[in-house]
Amino acid sequence: MPSVRALCLALSLPGNVVQQPVSQMAGKKNAAPPKKILFSKPFFLPFVSLCRFSTRISRLNLKTYDYIIAGAGAAGLSLAYYMAQTALKSCSVLLLDMDAKRSNDRTWCFWASGATAHDDIVCHKWHNLYFNGDRWQRGGQLGELSYQMIRGADFYDKMRRELECRPSFEFRQERVLSIEDCGEGAKVETTDAQYWAPVVFNSCLRPKLPPQPGTHFLLQHFTGWWIETEEDRFDPDSGTLMDFRTPQYGSARFFYLLPLSKRRALVEYTIFSPEKLQPHHYEEALQNYLKEQCGLNGYRVCERESGAIPMTDKVMPSKYSKHTINIGTYGGAVKPTTGYAFQNIQQQAKQLVAQLEAGEVLDSRLPQQPRFRFYDRLLLNILQYYGEEAKGIFCRLFRYSSVPQILRFLEEQTRLWQEIRIFATLPIITFLRAVVRVYISRPRSMRTMQPEKQKDVLPAMQAKRKTKKVV
Ligand SMILES: Cc1cc2nc3c(=O)[nH]c(=O)nc-3n(C[C@H](O)[C@H](O)[C@H](O)COP(=O)(O)OP(=O)(O)OC[C@H]3O[C@@H](n4cnc5c(N)ncnc54)[C@H](O)[C@@H]3O)c2cc1C
Repeated sequence: MPSVRALCLALSLPGNVVQQPVSQMAGKKNAAPPKKILFSKPFFLPFVSLCRFSTRISRLNLKTYDYIIAGAGAAGLSLAYYMAQTALKSCSVLLLDMDAKRSNDRTWCFWASGATAHDDIVCHKWHNLYFNGDRWQRGGQLGELSYQMIRGADFYDKMRRELECRPSFEFRQERVLSIEDCGEGAKVETTDAQYWAPVVFNSCLRPKLPPQPGTHFLLQHFTGWWIETEEDRFDPDSGTLMDFRTPQYGSARFFYLLPLSKRRALVEYTIFSPEKLQPHHYEEALQNYLKEQCGLNGYRVCERESGAIPMTDKVMPSKYSKHTINIGTYGGAVKPTTGYAFQNIQQQAKQLVAQLEAGEVLDSRLPQQPRFRFYDRLLLNILQYYGEEAKGIFCRLFRYSSVPQILRFLEEQTRLWQEIRIFATLPIITFLRAVVRVYISRPRSMRTMQPEKQKDVLPAMQAKRKTKKVV
């Protein structure tokens, strides 16, 4: 049975009969002006009425909400969480995810100064961070910053506790098949049902990207082990952000080691390259690293984590369709050259909630200084085509700049003069060559190729360049 709200919506009763959802008010600036066709062109009246009638009838089969959030991962849950802190908490919100989101499917690390919205679930903070080159180590205190970790399971748990006690927020475990505009909103089709809302937020369906010649696409892929030792082996206040003491095989490869206690740590093997490796390659590399660089033989692997994060300068569209806003990874929240996204996702969610509250046009794009896009593009070009040079760049970066300064640069909080000082320590010729490749002598194929084709061809181009055997 359709709800009274659905009936009213379908019959488009005036605002004083059906309370207008906040989302519709928010989208007012976007909404098309009311069509006068029924009154100004009586000739079309029967035909138009028939069409509208059939659309409304079909909408009667849909369950309607003020907002639908398709994909209840980091971005979807964060958005719902911040909505629930404001007047929007009384709006009906449907969260859809194909997964129950109860397992610890990932760990988020980020840096921050002072308290954050999720301080209560931070499982560890490091105040010292180190970087290892072949025969040297740099790093030290982070000052006002701390490097923090949140376990996915704790985040999902907190979000469920915060949202499930609010009757207007509803979770459904269903796979989203499609999202398409339907009338003055969007229809979401899942394996089980169809839903409709004036505004849908999408973090689960990959948006179609228009051709963007000359852009780059890589993956940051990794496998991590949570290990436990029988003796005290770690300093829980000091983490290793990057340890490059490993063969590079033509692409940037490094480890990070984050101890949570004297006997427990997360160690990850990370690679920046167009394609993932076979699972056993990561495992072998982890084994070798723990044995040869950390001198560890007796340890127990308690949990494993692996994943891949897109590293691309392709611009993610803010909208999936007229009434659907992309968020999270698909909303461009991932920093292309580092893969960090958690803090951007929080900022994006707060930005959208502020726009909803103020009745502004919804835009999930985060503000960015164009020069940081330029830096990202150059580094991506080097990582993609001259991956073997990445180690030298990171080594010089950490050798001559302080870790807090580097972290501020990576989160795009530095000033131009500070960036000039950082770039002065880097191999300038490598970057100048990248400028030429990106802006002057782009291969013809890169200039004209469709993004989908680029993705297929790039690994092949990379493979051709490699002379050394890949692990
Ligand atoms: C293993 C891993 C570790 C990471 N570590 C860090 C880190 O340390 N720091 C950092 O800043 N960033 C990290 N990231 C990057 C980024 O923060 C995360 O990927 C983040 O989860 C992205 O949020 P999201 O909401 O866009 O995607 P997700 O969190 O992946 O959420 C998308 C949701 O959509 C659901 N879904 C997908 N398809 C469908 C469908 N058809 N129907 C229904 N539901 C669907 C999925 O189940 C998922 O719950 C990491 C990423 C990964 C993969």
